[in-house]
Amino acid sequence: MEKQTYSLLFLDGDGIGPEVNAEVKKVISWLNDNTTYTFSMDEGLVGGAAIDAEGTPYPNSTQKKAKVADAIFLGAVGGPKWADVDFSNRPEQGLLNLRQDLNLFANLRPAFVFDCLQEASALKAAYASGVDVLIIRELTGGLYFGEPRGLTGKEGAREGFNTLRYNEEEIRRIAKFAFETSRKGNRRICSVDKANVLESMVLWRKVVNEVAEDYPDVELTHMYVDNAAMQMVMEPTQFDIILTENMFGDILSDLSASLTGSIGMLPSASLGLRDKSGFAKGVFEPVHGSAPDIANKNIANPTAAILSLSMFLKHSLGDITTARLVVSAVQFVLASGVRTSDIMEEGCVEVSTTEMGNQILQALDQILAMQKNAS
Ligand code: NAD
Repeated sequence: MEKQTYSLLFLDGDGIGPEVNAEVKKVISWLNDNTTYTFSMDEGLVGGAAIDAEGTPYPNSTQKKAKVADAIFLGAVGGPKWADVDFSNRPEQGLLNLRQDLNLFANLRPAFVFDCLQEASALKAAYASGVDVLIIRELTGGLYFGEPRGLTGKEGAREGFNTLRYNEEEIRRIAKFAFETSRKGNRRICSVDKANVLESMVLWRKVVNEVAEDYPDVELTHMYVDNAAMQMVMEPTQFDIILTENMFGDILSDLSASLTGSIGMLPSASLGLRDKSGFAKGVFEPVHGSAPDIANKNIANPTAAILSLSMFLKHSLGDITTARLVVSAVQFVLASGVRTSDIMEEGCVEVSTTEMGNQILQALDQILAMQKNAS
């Protein structure tokens, strides 16, 4: 079979970013050796590391590399060292510039509870068991970008205002993305809005319904965001894909994070439009930040970063088999009782960041050997 070649750009960033990304690189080398893929790996600067080296969190050199790469693996940005830097030049701005530059309008955040980590969930095990939700959040519109916005008035009569605004095209684009994604899975979407109060959300619901006409094989339901927040705690297993606008998605995805236990387990992907072959370029990164409190100690959990690689395989390349292989290796290691300190439980073995990565590589070897024996 012909090799498929993709160029990957690593932006390790700050704090634990380089530590967790080092483990992703090991898994990519394993995929190069054991699958039909050839992934080239390049490096660039972002965030605080880029401010230190070049005076800006998203230097031109990084921008150029990001434009030509097929996928970007970002570690994390930020930390107390840059807390006094002006907002427009903070490490976090590097990430926002990158997403904007590449027009990444779809943010995907899965929340699933591994069986052996049920006890780590904020919910009782009986509620957490079987949770497997994908939140698809519109990332470039809505309240965070709407104009006009600002602060006016004098002391005593000050006013702060923002605008929640969506046009049809923005809604149609993310809705289509969600319907196409659902066709690769369970074909169930719950669109979350606030159409009982907000005109922008009346339009949201209308356009989502219009898009749904082209996908009669996909079950679509609607839910108001306040009810959705309650339902995610009361009965999270009812959801498959949640499609929602920018701010509601921001809040609901953090709520879903609490269902899964540690923030060190949660991956994410931000994607742009698919090309004719179905490929979508994107930024893949753990949900967590740079965790300055544990940086350079070799104790961070690299699982979220490694699961971000499985999101690249599944959502950019459409390769569900290899994506599952990576998830299975993580599952295998957790089930064998190996844990980083953030998810440590009685009776388990605590390992370093590097050792967790090594264990996942060993699990990949073992699963591959089992598959070869079975065929
Ligand atoms: P954080 O996610 O960095 O850390 C929160 C807590 O979770 C800390 O106790 C940390 O030790 C722990 N933690 C996080 N990731 C972990 C992992 N992989 N393994 C084990 N424990 C882990 O959030 P914070 O402390 O609020 O932010 C720190 C810095 O990161 C800030 O500068 C913030 O702006 C930045 N940040 C960046 C991103 C990003 O790069 N996408 C996201 C969130 C926060």
